[in-house]
Amino acid sequence: MTFLSDAIQRIQPSPTLVVTQKAAALKEAGRNVIGLGAGEPDMPVPDFVAEAAIAAIRGGQNKYTNVDGTNALKEAVRGKFKRDNNLDYGLDQVTVNVGGKHTIFNALLVTLNPGDEVIVPAPYWVSYPDIVQFCGAKPVFISAGIEAGFKITPAQLEAAITPKTRWLILNSPSNPTGAVYTRDEIAALGEVLRRNPHVWILSDDMYEHIIYDIKFATIADVCPDLYDRTLTVNGASKAYSMTGWRIGFAGGPAQLIKAIAKIQSQSTTNPCAIAQAAATAALNGPQDFLKARVETFRGRRDLVVSMLNQTDGLKCATPDGAFYVYPDCAGLIGRKTPAGDVLATDEDVAGYLLEAEGVAVVHGGAFGVSPAFRISYATSTELLEDACTRIQRACGALK
Ligand code: PLP
Repeated sequence: MTFLSDAIQRIQPSPTLVVTQKAAALKEAGRNVIGLGAGEPDMPVPDFVAEAAIAAIRGGQNKYTNVDGTNALKEAVRGKFKRDNNLDYGLDQVTVNVGGKHTIFNALLVTLNPGDEVIVPAPYWVSYPDIVQFCGAKPVFISAGIEAGFKITPAQLEAAITPKTRWLILNSPSNPTGAVYTRDEIAALGEVLRRNPHVWILSDDMYEHIIYDIKFATIADVCPDLYDRTLTVNGASKAYSMTGWRIGFAGGPAQLIKAIAKIQSQSTTNPCAIAQAAATAALNGPQDFLKARVETFRGRRDLVVSMLNQTDGLKCATPDGAFYVYPDCAGLIGRKTPAGDVLATDEDVAGYLLEAEGVAVVHGGAFGVSPAFRISYATSTELLEDACTRIQRACGALK
């Protein structure tokens, strides 16, 4: 007998946070560890955003706010959707939540019933399946490996839809692969969705601004006829280095937005008032600093991809967005470590890299496509070079 609910027993702690914590613990214990597990930019929050937060505190914005966001932030979100995505949302179509994860959690919690299905393309962001399962529904995976550019096809989508399907989750640029769907590819998926009016679309656009040579596109803009059943999710975490501030937001149908406010009113109440003021400044302020940051990420991406592709047993695609690479490590499976252990799974590979060389990565099993692992290159070039050299040495030492 356990005191814990069935719902909590259906899910696992976030594996990326587990790796981050493990790396931090080893570091504290004196090991020379390079953590490539965390999905957060290493750049500071822009000054004008920090100033807005300080001004908010001093100006007395220390009280409860509207449950699902201040009007100022909702207006800023509306402006952002119009400016960046050509999307018109009314004030009653915008919600602000405690991080993008919370936005997604709320949306699924207020729409899913036991037995419902949610289509999740794999590799997937670790939290989607667990949130779906927490809600009593079933994730239905569509696998798209390195050979498919980590992108699902319309035929795969068609085959995965059943009468029980409630949502398709789209995430482009993707965590963990960095794959980006082009406008045409989104339009082709839209064709399938058009024929299946019972399926809603959760477009997780969290990495919108970290994109290299492809122009970002989101489905409610590409397929305006799907606007009424699309939730467009975004947030302040990745673009503005505000991971700790916990601000996520979405635009979507008013009825869904209202239901999200209802659950939020009975759980977190409003997101932090000060973080909301800062996010308002971030969205309304100059956006040109993003360009320089993207170029920094591009340099790191190129370095990491090149070094991994010169590594015995690894094959790494060049991602078009986000700050992750997802090298295939099939060439390491079945090989022996200097200590005589056989690497049977990508979890063994990740364990070996941490043990042998102090490099913390997240194994592909956590994202639903194996054998592979995820590296976050949101860290300095020096550390990335050091980490990739260590990975090369570890892989070269295998028999
Ligand atoms: N969606 C994706 C694909 C992510 O990678 C993340 C964070 O890692 C989130 C949503 C949630 O971001 P946050 O809750 O920090 O706003």
